[in-house]
Amino acid sequence: MTNITLVPGDITRQAVDAVVNAANSSLLGGGGVDGAIHRAGGPEILRECRALRSSRYSEGLPAGQAVATGAGLLPAHWVIHTVGPVWSCSEDRSELLGSCYVESLRVADALGARTAAFPAISTGAYRWPVAEAARIALRAVHGTETGVAEVRFVLIDNTARDAFAETLQQLGGSG
Ligand code: ADP
Repeated sequence: MTNITLVPGDITRQAVDAVVNAANSSLLGGGGVDGAIHRAGGPEILRECRALRSSRYSEGLPAGQAVATGAGLLPAHWVIHTVGPVWSCSEDRSELLGSCYVESLRVADALGARTAAFPAISTGAYRWPVAEAARIALRAVHGTETGVAEVRFVLIDNTARDAFAETLQQLGGSG
């Protein structure tokens, strides 16, 4: 049974086994959560990302997939990098967004992680409407069999917090 919690604040401060990064497919850093994780985690994470780019992911990490590195200086064991889809009004990409959560949990399970922190993937630079992103995120986590006992959504802004809280309540969770 996975306990889903909502936590206000900065994901780089979370003492959890795995911190999930809303990366871009280059894996070489960006703004938003990605920038914050690399700034707080130090150069070791980027070094591991570069190694992934020159081996398994020479073409970049596709949207909806996930891969782990160490967590550098963060108070966590691993960073799980996943790439959300960019919002599109002409194409339904919700399966890809759901897949970010499912695949990140699959990677977390393979690592033996018991606690994981997620940001609201795709709701920043990738412009996903936050209420819909919250529904997809919470349904994906709720519907996934995982050994991760606590999934913590770490939400830096009020709009995302309200949207996640409302959806979590509808799903019968605590918040
Ligand atoms: P994406 O490119 O997937 O949209 P972003 O990093 O631009 O990713 O934004 C995803 C969400 O993360 C946004 O809601 C943004 O407000 C939030 N965010 C940005 N920095 C942090 C942080 N340090 N901790 C938690 N959430 C953050």
